[in-house]
Amino acid sequence: GLSLNLGSIKKKLPFDPKREYDAVVIGGGTGGLSFVQEARELGLSVVMFNHVNPTPKLGYKWGLGGTCVNVGCVPKKLFHNAGLIKESIHMAHDYGWDVELKDDKIKWETLRTNVQNHIKGINFSYVSKMKEIGVDYIEAKASINESQNVVFDFDDTQYELKAKNIIIATGGRPRYLPNIEGADFKFEDECITSDDLFALDKSPGKTLVVGGGYIALECAGFLKELGNDVIMINRSSFLRVFDQTIAGKILENMVGGNLKAFGKTTITNITKEDEDQYLVDLLIDGEPKKAKVNSILLAIGRDPNTHVVENSGVKINPRSFKVEGRVEEPERTCVDQIYALGDILEGVPELMPVAQKSGTLLAHRIYHRNKGELTEKEILKKYSMDYSNIATTVFSNVEYSYVGLNEEEAIEKYGEDNIEIYHREVTPLEASIYSENSRTAYMKLIVERNETEKVIGIHYLGPSAGEVINGFGLAMKLGITKKDIDNTIGIHPTVGEDFFNLT
Ligand code: NDP
Repeated sequence: GLSLNLGSIKKKLPFDPKREYDAVVIGGGTGGLSFVQEARELGLSVVMFNHVNPTPKLGYKWGLGGTCVNVGCVPKKLFHNAGLIKESIHMAHDYGWDVELKDDKIKWETLRTNVQNHIKGINFSYVSKMKEIGVDYIEAKASINESQNVVFDFDDTQYELKAKNIIIATGGRPRYLPNIEGADFKFEDECITSDDLFALDKSPGKTLVVGGGYIALECAGFLKELGNDVIMINRSSFLRVFDQTIAGKILENMVGGNLKAFGKTTITNITKEDEDQYLVDLLIDGEPKKAKVNSILLAIGRDPNTHVVENSGVKINPRSFKVEGRVEEPERTCVDQIYALGDILEGVPELMPVAQKSGTLLAHRIYHRNKGELTEKEILKKYSMDYSNIATTVFSNVEYSYVGLNEEEAIEKYGEDNIEIYHREVTPLEASIYSENSRTAYMKLIVERNETEKVIGIHYLGPSAGEVINGFGLAMKLGITKKDIDNTIGIHPTVGEDFFNLT
């Protein structure tokens, strides 16, 4: 009779490994995805590898889409919005609505489930998209060997793939603190990071947030709004590399109620007292203190996934361990046919739209290099990424957006006597009939002090900061002056209109 041993049936590779593709892409995040979509539009043949290691504590393994979709921008903005909705409900009362929050703590499970379902939908749509546009997509870990070919394992067989071009877009993963000498406590086993947070089955409870950058401030901010007690600590100050007046205001807005923040603070020991119960020894500005928390969230920066290129001959930056590009083409490595995009790349901002735009442009450069009709100079002139004046937002409780230099950078670059600062604090009209309102908005313009009065920095702290700054990002690209701003008529009543009346 017929007997089938299913266990011995080999899975079939979804493409021919002997084929020499125009581009092999390693990494299915924003950089990789934007590249392959544009490359297919241009008719290049592409194969894309994507592989995600499960998170240490939760074992969470996500789908196609990378950091932004799975554990970054997308879930963060939704959790942040959950916090904003709560504030609106509080405000609603003074507006005459008969609503009241029965519980000051969010139904974490509902939020988590709906957010995760949304993410799964995006993952699925990307997988379908790859099929639809003819990208050979494979979930496997790939790397580049000494011969500068791509090697990968599939169903216990190792394959080696030749490629005309290789694109590394493997991004990064959260950093962990080094374990404390002699302590039983292992950071990787017990701490969560932003990779785990949005997938937790239940609320993290009272949380110690470690770090003072974007991720720490954003996570601490929404955790507070969602009803968790939060202790924020950082080894130095918070938002150290941001405009310091504004960093101070962000913190002022966050601290209070169920959130405490301590700068100049380090962890000296942690004892696990029970499941979800940790006793943390802290050194706060030299003073020993203890804190009991249910979760420890590390947000102390991210490390690039460079194992892919270890044997490839590609240059790695000795400080950041990121892939080094070239002066004239930051996305091209010292190996001609190997490129890098997004968070893996040295010297470029770790922002989703940066990876997206540079992926699209790279597809054009590779296409034209293949085609050979344009000179190298023409290709670079037409399709290079401009990394100047990229606007960004910190989605802290009160959002903060800026483009250009901050005050400290402007002073360093131009000298204190050569810049003019225009700034104003205002109360948003919407908040003026809210009895508990203590929040204001703040804006700052930094201008060169000379006859041109070129604008070199625009900062906004207040509602919908990201939306407000989008247009100013464009204005900065166009090289606007203070006079251009003064000549603009704002929209009333909005908060942003005050930019046009700064004296
Ligand atoms: P950041 O580099 O912004 O901040 C890292 C923080 O951790 C700093 O406060 C730093 O302290 C501290 N830190 C670094 N190393 C250690 C260490 N070994 N021990 C203790 N503390 C340490 O990193 P994030 O992880 O917050 O974010 C990564 C990047 O992701 C950002 O730079 C940003 O580009 C991007 N991002 C963008 C978002 C957005 O656009 N809204 C949101 C989230 C992330 P110190 O100041 O003392 O150096």
